[in-house]
Amino acid sequence: DVRVRFCPSPTGLPHVGMVRTALYNWAYARHTGGTLIFRVEDTDAARDSEESYRQLVDALTWLRIDWDEGVEKGGPHGPYRQSQRTGIYADVLERLVAAGRVYESYSTAAEIDARNAANGRAAQLGYDNFDRELTDEQKAAFRAEGREPAWRVRVPDEDLTYVDLIRGEVTFPAGSFPDFVIVRAGGKALYPFTNPVDDALMGITHVIRGEDIMPSTARQLVLYDALIAAGIATFMPRFGHMPLVLGATGNKKLSKRDPQADLFLQREKGFIHEGLLNYLALLGWSIGPDRDVFSLAEFTAAFDIVDVNPNPARFDQKKAEAINGDHIRMLEPSDFATRIVPYLRAAGLVGEDVTPEQQRLITAVAPLVQERVQLLGEVPALVGFLFTDDVEYADDAMKGLGENAGEVLVASVNAVQDIPRADFAAAAIQQALSVALVDELGLKPRLAYGPLRVAVTGRRVSPPLFESMELLGKDETLRRLGLLVA
Ligand code: GLU
Repeated sequence: DVRVRFCPSPTGLPHVGMVRTALYNWAYARHTGGTLIFRVEDTDAARDSEESYRQLVDALTWLRIDWDEGVEKGGPHGPYRQSQRTGIYADVLERLVAAGRVYESYSTAAEIDARNAANGRAAQLGYDNFDRELTDEQKAAFRAEGREPAWRVRVPDEDLTYVDLIRGEVTFPAGSFPDFVIVRAGGKALYPFTNPVDDALMGITHVIRGEDIMPSTARQLVLYDALIAAGIATFMPRFGHMPLVLGATGNKKLSKRDPQADLFLQREKGFIHEGLLNYLALLGWSIGPDRDVFSLAEFTAAFDIVDVNPNPARFDQKKAEAINGDHIRMLEPSDFATRIVPYLRAAGLVGEDVTPEQQRLITAVAPLVQERVQLLGEVPALVGFLFTDDVEYADDAMKGLGENAGEVLVASVNAVQDIPRADFAAAAIQQALSVALVDELGLKPRLAYGPLRVAVTGRRVSPPLFESMELLGKDETLRRLGLLVA
């Protein structure tokens, strides 16, 4: 059975790279009927924060990425926060020592440098495996000096090869790195140790993560061998490294600080979870040629980790927004109407409690804008004119009024006045205005209706004009037409 994991270190705001990792693991688990484990690698007390953790859970919950085992959920391999697993690491260390795979090391950085200099060995090569063969007497002497050992893993002097699920065969040549520290003097267990130990104890079958972590895979292969030799792991997991995500231009990795990488900012702009998730899925994978838009169910049915493209993916904000627009159009109208409310509220158009009159307007206008936006955040500007008596006239709209605006507005006031109150609906309004402006004044519809749109909505782009007038009602429509006449 497939067991995959998502194991972030909770620092900073949740960002695109992190969530794409969660998404691919999730999709692979759902595709295979496997299990997704959410583990928190919070051993760096200086950088990790509870706030980052909460935000990450918020982001995953919003995107509907759920997990089967782990934090917030529990499961048979807990605790799922590394900060609560120190006893487990101490125990595993003891077993690796007993199996002869790990040894105590007393060399300080200064001593290593001095030996390298004396032996004509390049400083960048780092540690010289000096403590491998310490005798019991030497160890006792160091301890007598009051030194405490760090613990290092023996790295075999041979090429390390594995077959990456995404990249194919990868070889780390012999001698690429020296014996490495897994537990510091004083007992702190480090990432190259805790990460594979937890993968082993949690039965992880596929380690799927970003390409940036590939260099540490070599050490993990070595450690996994040791865990297997010590009877702690029973098998070696498969590894797959997803491509980098680049920013919009150049060859720079999308950085945590790029605004596009900030999921909450994207949500504020008006991504719906379906749209953003769809776009994130495309950062390294494709459902088929010439096809960008799909549902969650189609995604998990089609997704396989071996189809992930090893080449860098580029975050394209425009494309992401276009896909979001397509998903907005797929929403049930009532669902769309519900989802725009927080955006109207953020723009100050409605209060904490939506009044029945505001609700009537929201329900009526929602279908008119659902067809035209890519982001929910575009909605308030389009519909704001409905929620205020005090229309704001955009500069470009006023400038573009045209010379016959006055004539158009006067004729429109008269035509609208003649529509019986009971008939004041879009079709009748269109009919009356078409007669007055197109037939009688002989104007082209575009010239005729432009000034009306500005008068009624304050903008050049708005929901459909006659529907907008209907929503405002006869009196308010007349008042607004009159405002610009004067
Ligand atoms: N905690 C590590 C990170 O966030 C996990 C890397 C991995 O997936 O193995 O970078």
